[in-house]
Amino acid sequence: MSRRLFVAGNWKMHKGPLEAEALANGLKKALSNQTAVDVAVAPPFVSLVPVIQRLKHTGIEVAGQDLHPEVGGAYTSGVSGEMLREAGCSYVIVGHSERRRWFHDDNARINKKVHAAFRAGLLPILCIGETLQERDAGKADEVVSQQLLTGLAGLEADQIPTVTIAYEPVWAIGTGVTATPSQAQDMHAMIRGCLKDRYPDYVAAQTRIQYGGSVKPGNAASLLKQPDIDGALVGGAALNVESFTGIIEAGSARLG
Ligand code: PEP
Repeated sequence: MSRRLFVAGNWKMHKGPLEAEALANGLKKALSNQTAVDVAVAPPFVSLVPVIQRLKHTGIEVAGQDLHPEVGGAYTSGVSGEMLREAGCSYVIVGHSERRRWFHDDNARINKKVHAAFRAGLLPILCIGETLQERDAGKADEVVSQQLLTGLAGLEADQIPTVTIAYEPVWAIGTGVTATPSQAQDMHAMIRGCLKDRYPDYVAAQTRIQYGGSVKPGNAASLLKQPDIDGALVGGAALNVESFTGIIEAGSARLG
């Protein structure tokens, strides 16, 4: 079964409203004829509205970088999935390693956020990945499969293919060190194997698994041609039109 490639840009804590609008304008121009690859960008919360306005009718989707599990209430600084949906987001990133590290999101809370995303009508991008210490201790498969299965717990099988899994080894995020295509492929095959063991076969066949960790135009083609890599979650290289579109072009070239 063929899965459409999906490239998403995580702008993290970069690009306030003015810079975000300029980047969105640049992407709108550069990607106007691009239909081969699904594309989304995740600006900071304060920049969502201008970016959504700029990208309306372009086919480029917009994602929140996180969401609060509750619909609303006395949670100062929280942003709910319902608010993101009302603003015009279609996706939301959940469980990014920086959220796990700096904001103490654990697997149980991440699972609540995945359910909250569905409640709000958003498609979750569930990030999973091991630290270098865990990899060196031979625990990468165990850690990643636990993050995966706990993150998805309680969902119906039919919902799972609408979740994008982003495998992001923590040691490769923002470090310039990329997993080799074969290291990444091995982990993606392991993740797909977990889905196969746990759910009916169509779930593993249809669910997209992005790779994330220092993806750049120069290494994207070799990663994206791996059979179990269905796209990329991109941080640093998503902050500039040329590098982000270069990654998307590498994906389109694989298809062509
Ligand atoms: C990320 O933040 O999800 C990421 C993969 O960052 P970078 O591409 O900069 O490593």
